[in-house]
Amino acid sequence: MKYNVDEKGFFGRFGGAYVPEILYKCVTDLQAAYLPILESESFQHEYAALLKDYVGRPSPLYYAKRMSERYGCQLYLKREDLNHTGAHKINNTVGQILMARQMGKTRIIAETGAGQHGVATATVCALMNMKCEIFMGKTDVERQHTNVERMKMLGAQVHPVETGNMTLSDACSEAIRDWCCHPKETFYIVGSTMGPHPYPDIVARLQSIISKEIKQQLTEKIGRDYPDYLIACVGGGSNAAGTIYHYLDDNRVKIYLAEAGGQGIDTEYTAATMHCGEEGIVHGSRTLVMQTADGQIKEAFTISAGLDYPGIGPMHAHLAQSGRTHIMAINDDEAIRAGYELTRMEGIIPAIESAHAIAALSKLSFSPEDIVVLTVSGRGDKDVETYLNNKTLAAEYGDF
Ligand SMILES: *Cc1c(COP(=O)(O)O)cnc(C)c1O
Repeated sequence: MKYNVDEKGFFGRFGGAYVPEILYKCVTDLQAAYLPILESESFQHEYAALLKDYVGRPSPLYYAKRMSERYGCQLYLKREDLNHTGAHKINNTVGQILMARQMGKTRIIAETGAGQHGVATATVCALMNMKCEIFMGKTDVERQHTNVERMKMLGAQVHPVETGNMTLSDACSEAIRDWCCHPKETFYIVGSTMGPHPYPDIVARLQSIISKEIKQQLTEKIGRDYPDYLIACVGGGSNAAGTIYHYLDDNRVKIYLAEAGGQGIDTEYTAATMHCGEEGIVHGSRTLVMQTADGQIKEAFTISAGLDYPGIGPMHAHLAQSGRTHIMAINDDEAIRAGYELTRMEGIIPAIESAHAIAALSKLSFSPEDIVVLTVSGRGDKDVETYLNNKTLAAEYGDF
């Protein structure tokens, strides 16, 4: 089974580049340019230097002793929460801005939901002195005010999007619309393994530093370079793609990914795209998407703004359908409880997105010698209010 992208930009039956005529040249130019750039010595040198001294890589692989005892396994946490700007997203934006500069682009656009990708993009634009415009649903602008202020402080212009539900999916559509109006000078920095080919492949490659480091760090710590289990949360799929990238062809490694169940996959209030979605085309690629009977994109619901997307990267649609990955739906209450658990047991407040991955632990059964690597995709500072406002959802965990 082939898990990576083929020459036409497909992962199995998913993927491709379904873009309006006016973007055809932009997208085909990028398709022709991305691999030569990524593989060039000058890119690799500059990218590695920035990851090291600007982002702060390698991120630690931390042996979580108390959690290991609780779950009866050897649990290692890949600490993407310790990166500059607090999540894995910067691994991708650093790479894409180098690519934009190499292609002679002068203006950067990006979509954002919770604002994490917007902040990571505005950050690298400040670093590289590039003009930056961020599209963000008006609802999210109101919900995620601090991140909006951070983007503005970094010099970005934030456009509140007032179409549709005024959330992430609408911000993506608006960014694509803007790209259509200014294709020549604009580089669209996509925030996850989604969008038209080659974006899913670009983002997966840029995030693959996560599994590259896991291999080295496991070798140092336990003398073998693979775990028995890999666990990550999945929104569009970028931190998960990075976590599993170098292990896809290694069948000794079992992969469990946590998507956001919201209030439950049997309710209308869910973001569990791989459980509830059907095949369709969204934001430039064929993938699984939550849609109504007549093909309108449905709104996603979850307590986690970073997982609030009705689609999924085509790579993950393919991996799940081929059986390589196992997808679990984690509900809001389970994520909140898991977030408190990691906080109290290891002194690490995880992003509410990452807490979905933590919650997967209680649904799996391990042997004591099993090596489990779980990616903590981001830190929870942005989610403190969400945790405190939903304490009752975690009530059985103890007294807070
Ligand atoms: C954006 C985000 C996610 C979800 O995005 P993926 O592309 O699926 O990784 C998960 N965790 C954090 C902390 C995020 O900021």
